[in-house]
Order: sequence, then structure tokens, then C-alpha cells
Amino acid sequence: MFVDEAVVNLKAGDGGKGSAGFRREKFIPFGGPDGGDGGNGGNIYALGDENVSDLENFMYSPNIRAGDGANGAGRQKTGETGKDAFLRVPPGTIIINTETDMPVAEVLKHGEKILLLRGGKGGLGNIHFKSSTNRAPRQFTYGSEGEDGEFKLVLKTIADAGMVGFPNAGKSSLVSLLTPARPKIGAYQFTTLHVNIGTLEYPEVYQKLKLADIPGLIDGASQNRGLGHKFLRHIERCKVLIILLDMAGVDGRKPTDDYKNLLKELELYSPELVKKPMIIAANKMDEDVAVKNLKSFKRKYPKLDVIPISCLSEEGIAELKAEIFTQCKKSSEL
Ligand code: GDP
Ligand code: MG
Repeated sequence: MFVDEAVVNLKAGDGGKGSAGFRREKFIPFGGPDGGDGGNGGNIYALGDENVSDLENFMYSPNIRAGDGANGAGRQKTGETGKDAFLRVPPGTIIINTETDMPVAEVLKHGEKILLLRGGKGGLGNIHFKSSTNRAPRQFTYGSEGEDGEFKLVLKTIADAGMVGFPNAGKSSLVSLLTPARPKIGAYQFTTLHVNIGTLEYPEVYQKLKLADIPGLIDGASQNRGLGHKFLRHIERCKVLIILLDMAGVDGRKPTDDYKNLLKELELYSPELVKKPMIIAANKMDEDVAVKNLKSFKRKYPKLDVIPISCLSEEGIAELKAEIFTQCKKSSEL
């Protein structure tokens, strides 16, 4: 399961209390105050971790707390600081305060550490209260409480290229040809129920690109009628979109309609999406009907560059892979 949303309850550690101890040593009858301070409570941080693929862990353990500071002790001993807690999240995670509904942080990189909640301060030991009029103070203070709050984590994948297409267009088949990822392939709708992230490797130039295969869009996806809408946010940050069309037109669909409807759904979700560079791949060219359909597609959209491919015969796959590289590089230079 790919979990891209989770609500967590966080509580930073409380500060430990100060000590009200007195020196007790042989031959020193009236030892002065020697109570140390309490330790500070642990903080809570978000930490970008590329080895974490989604937010599933937080679904099972949504309550996270940092360690409390230990109490101070005699001999001016300061209590130990509470242990910090880290929320390991995939890069691309946005953290929203549920009370205000405002984003408070966004983790973009592996290793990035962001302070979310501060631990409480340790209390003061009685050594701080010694004065000329009070040589044996019994005062100390309690530590302050650590901050707490409820937060919503939302993951927006950061991939270089995002692939969209109707169910059965061949997205999963293409991902398994382009990348080492092995997604489920099947001739029924919604085989893919979650976002697949694959890595495109270009060993000749020592480069890698990330490809996000989002579940099949259906008409009305942007109105949240289909599953697709929920996943569109994973292509919001892509540099390039790959529009995968089923040229064989299974389920009696026409590629020209598919193209029009896909763009409409993308635009309804966000007009920014359709401004991205797009690569149009016409799949299933091994089928005779696809050749015919591609001709009429080109007649209808003469200005579009279309790359004919087949996941079956592997025609055009290398060319498509090269084009993804070219377009991603181009858009990162902008
Ligand atoms: P997805 O729903 O877009 O992920 O599509 P899948 O990759 O699961 O493929 C749907 C169906 O189309 C499967 O039965 C595939 O075997 C088939 N398919 C995918 N690519 C091709 C192709 O190039 N030619 C033919 N003839 N069938 C294909
Ligand atoms: Mg699929």
C-alpha cells in the first residue's frame, strides 16, 4: 500500500525538575545547597530520508513523543537531556498544522532536518536561589512542558518525469521496460492502485532520473470521481509529463478522445500541469489497428510530436527513454 497522507500527534519532551539538594559531607555540618538543574526535554524533528518510500509507518504509529529531561540531582548534577525524536519522511513531504491548516514545513532533500516542536526547558536547582539572606534555600522550579500538536503529513512525490494515461494504456508495462521496477500488469482497470516510482538509468552519462507512474486517470478524475485525482499531486512537481496513449483503443476508446480527455482532466486539476513540457507516446504499435489510429491521430493533431512505441515488440522504447532525458535536462536548465 502506498500511503501519502497521515495525521500524527506529536509531543516534545518535558523539562526535568530542578533539585533541592544539600551538600552532605563529613566535617561540613551545614553544607550549602547543591541541587542541579533539570535536563531539557527532547525536540521533535522531521528528517528527510530517501529510503522511506511513503508515510505508511505513521498510519500505524501516529503518536510520537520525544524523551523528557531527567530531574536534576544533588552535587550540582544537571539532569540528562531528553532524547530527540525524528519523523523520517520521504523527500517531498509537507507538514501541515491541523489547527491552523497551514503548512509549517516542507522536507525536500535527503538528510534535511527541520525542527517541529521544542522540548521544555529544565527547571532550576536550588543553587540558583542562594542569597546572603537565604543560605539554605529549598526552592527549585519545575521544568516547562514540551510543545505538542497535531500535524498532517502530505507526500508530493518529487520525480523528474510523471506518466499519465488511461487505465490499460500500458503504463505499468512501460515502467517495467524503462526501469528495474516490476509493477503489476493486467488487462483490467486499476491494476495499479498506487504510485510507482521507478528509476531510469543512463549509464553512458552517469545519470539517473525518477519516473512516477500514477494510477490510470479516468474521466471525471479531477472532480474526485475517479481514483486518479488523489494521485495527480504526485505529478505536480515533475519537470516533464509523459502522456501515454493506447493506440489500439481497447474498450472501444479512441486515442484522439483519450488525448483530449486526459488534457482536460489535467487542466481541471491544475492549469499549471498542462504548461509542463509533454512527451506523447503512442503505445501498442504492434497492433494493426494502432497503425491506422496513429494516422488519424496525426491528421487531427498535425503539430504534435508523437513517439510510436510498443511495449510488446519494444519498438521506440530506447528513443522514448532518450527523449525523456533530453526534455528533463532542458527543463532543469530553464
Ligand atoms: P496500465 O493500466 O496503464 O498500467 O496498463 P498495463 O501495463 O497494465 O497494460 C494493460 C494491458 O495492455 C496488458 O494486458 C498489457 O499486456 C497490454 N499491453 C501493454 N503494452 C502493450 C503493447 O505495446 N502492445 C500490446 N499489444 N499490448 C500491450
Ligand atoms: Mg498499471
